[in-house]
Amino acid sequence: MTIVDGNALAGVLADRLGPDATTAPLHCPGCGRDGILARTRVHVTAMGMVARCRDCDALLATVVEADGHRWVDLPGFRAASTDDG
Ligand SMILES: [Zn+2]
Repeated sequence: MTIVDGNALAGVLADRLGPDATTAPLHCPGCGRDGILARTRVHVTAMGMVARCRDCDALLATVVEADGHRWVDLPGFRAASTDDG
């Protein structure tokens, strides 16, 4: 297993989070901190990648690729707000 920063997931998640996924907002369900993808700690294995909070190690994103399919779970990411005010 290799541990890298959240920038490693940006390309993989661009279809879900937009072309600048590194700055996608997230909210840690473990400690409540707000952050961005680039600040996460990503564990890279043969099965895929898991993004965890740098502060409390809570699960923020999972990407698993197998048999030509990709499964993505984003429990720590917020939907972009469209509310202007
Ligand atoms: Zn946390």
